[in-house]
Amino acid sequence: MTERLSVAVETPRHSAVGGLLDYTSEQPLAPGTLVRVPLGRRELAGVVWDRTPGCTASEAEVRAVVAVVDALPPLDADWRALVGFAAAYYQRGVGEVALSVLPPELRKLDNQRLARRIKRLQSGFAGPSATSAASALAPEHSDRQGAKSLNAEQVAALAALATATQPVLLHGVTGSGKTDVYLHAAQQALDRGRQALVLVPEINLTPQLQARFAERFPGRQLVSLHSALTPAQRLRHWLLAHLGLADLVLGTRLAVFAPLPRLGLIVVDEEHDPSFKQQEGARYSARDLAVWRAHRAQVPVLLGSATPSLETWQRVQQGRYRRLALAERIGGGAMPQVRLVDMGRLPQAAEGTQRALAPALLTALQERVERGEQSLLLLNRRGYAPVLHCSACGWKSACPHCSAWRVFHKQDRTLRCHHCGLSERVPRACPDCGNLDIAPIGRGTEKLQEQLAALLPQARVARIDADSTRGVGLLQQQLQAVHAGEVDVLVGTQMVAKGHDFRRITLVAAVNPDTALFSSDFRAPERLFALLMQSAGRAGRDAAQAARSEMWVQTWHPRHPIYAALHRHDYEAFATAQLAERRAAGLPPFAALALVRADARSATAAAAFLQEAATLARGLDGVTVYPVVPPHMARVADVERMQMLLESSSRRVLQAMLASWLPQLDSLRGHHKGLLRWAVDVDPLVI
Ligand code: ADP
Ligand code: ZN
Ligand code: ZN
Repeated sequence: MTERLSVAVETPRHSAVGGLLDYTSEQPLAPGTLVRVPLGRRELAGVVWDRTPGCTASEAEVRAVVAVVDALPPLDADWRALVGFAAAYYQRGVGEVALSVLPPELRKLDNQRLARRIKRLQSGFAGPSATSAASALAPEHSDRQGAKSLNAEQVAALAALATATQPVLLHGVTGSGKTDVYLHAAQQALDRGRQALVLVPEINLTPQLQARFAERFPGRQLVSLHSALTPAQRLRHWLLAHLGLADLVLGTRLAVFAPLPRLGLIVVDEEHDPSFKQQEGARYSARDLAVWRAHRAQVPVLLGSATPSLETWQRVQQGRYRRLALAERIGGGAMPQVRLVDMGRLPQAAEGTQRALAPALLTALQERVERGEQSLLLLNRRGYAPVLHCSACGWKSACPHCSAWRVFHKQDRTLRCHHCGLSERVPRACPDCGNLDIAPIGRGTEKLQEQLAALLPQARVARIDADSTRGVGLLQQQLQAVHAGEVDVLVGTQMVAKGHDFRRITLVAAVNPDTALFSSDFRAPERLFALLMQSAGRAGRDAAQAARSEMWVQTWHPRHPIYAALHRHDYEAFATAQLAERRAAGLPPFAALALVRADARSATAAAAFLQEAATLARGLDGVTVYPVVPPHMARVADVERMQMLLESSSRRVLQAMLASWLPQLDSLRGHHKGLLRWAVDVDPLVI
């Protein structure tokens, strides 16, 4: 008997079949089985999917499955449901999503080799039933090594989590011990014989979190999943999760798709962080998918943050999420005192120069150096200066391929475009008029480091940014030096503002945060506030020093409401004001958005495609289609970009509209020469 099967394969996005194709097989195959199938002249990996009627393939075309990879246990219904939901919600093919979230290495191995790997993994471990049974029988299992006794707030949060039927927001100020709540929640899941999934925003934060979990759960199998693993490691870790051998899975956004047969808890740390949103392919939000997944699997989901996303905060207001607060820092330490420095009222510096640091800030830094305390200066701009300028003819170091300036990097004397990567030696003279006097304008981390070294000659000044950490292990080395007290003043980008538990820092300063105040992006204030609160959280983490810890903000707008809220450490006031603005403007979370982007050789071609798409959308009700506009970065690497925003007061209406409209767009492609690609971003983070 030959069986008919639906198989998810990687087909073009909006093909009518949504990535499911019909194949035949000699033997019945369970949904979730990995197979290899022919497509045209190629042979592709595919996943047997739940049978869906209405397939386009006619009888004559249906081909047979080439190989069955049955060494791998089928991907279960929960996993398939998650992939199916993500594909539908983010408007991609099921096959595209399914195959893109499997470890690439999985497609390369044949059944025999995979069987051998799996066998090796299984023989290396006692197996899930053995460990879970042991811990269920003996609650004082060795897991509890290194457990701190929780404070009253942590205990209350944990107790509430145990009974919560809704997603839980763990709203804890920086240093309030959120991680210990995660550890205890994970402990409870493990005690029940379940697996725990912990998502973190950045790969850089995984080693320290991994260390804390490893220390806490010495007898347990803990794996990480993120894009910096080698293909072999990623396969191994993924297999351990899928086979149920890993008890704890720690990873970045892609880990939300890890198959977990014994899933018992999902934690999303720093849930507000933009990096949970995938920015290519299926542009999913791992935070939102985590909530969906937990709901379907009926397991608790814990979203942790000191500055929750306004989407999450709004759901708390509506009673859809439950908020558990950790209002106190561990050890009762105070939050750092926020000092707003009015840059407009500083005495003039030497003619023509702009002060990097206010004199009072410099004095405060000096005092810290003398006391042996550390300081952190944040400047979100790497390189020496953002642009070079010729005072004779007005030439500026524009990138010929992008709508951006090339940044001056003094260390290797290059002009570099941070968007397309173009890098050239700094010209000796102005390329336009030959003037020898070309000068940097503005200030990046390299220059700030150089100036600080001159201003504070006794201080050891270090810098951590994407440039200083390019080599393998360099970031960990540099962080280690800070922890070891080998640095007095650290200059860094937002890379160091997040998560790190620096014990000796008593002063944090935002050198030039104002630019975000006037951005056209409606989420810029939210991001700035979160970044500043997080940065403030780097100071005074040691309770003994907390009382004299300070957060300095250099600003030309000291009375701006964002800074006023920061000054009082008042997230709620900030969130309430922002939500009122969003409501008045009809922006998320009060409206659902989707952004269609088009890339082309010319701006006209990109715009023409979107115009025609807009015409097709005209008959569709309930959705506002905004005019085609260039994005903030209109040109990158000689590709012109255009975009068009869609808005609806109802998420469901927008979803239905996209599902009927987007499949028509691929047929428009032929009309538009020069169009390179187009894509839709549902719930876009950056507009
Ligand atoms: P957050 O993630 O909320 O910023 P952390 O979880 O990093 O805070 O906790 C801050 C510090 O307090 C860590 O060094 C942690 O080990 C410590 N800590 C957390 N809970 C307790 C506790 N109940 N007793 C003692 N120390 C704790
Ligand atoms: Zn010139
Ligand atoms: Zn460029």
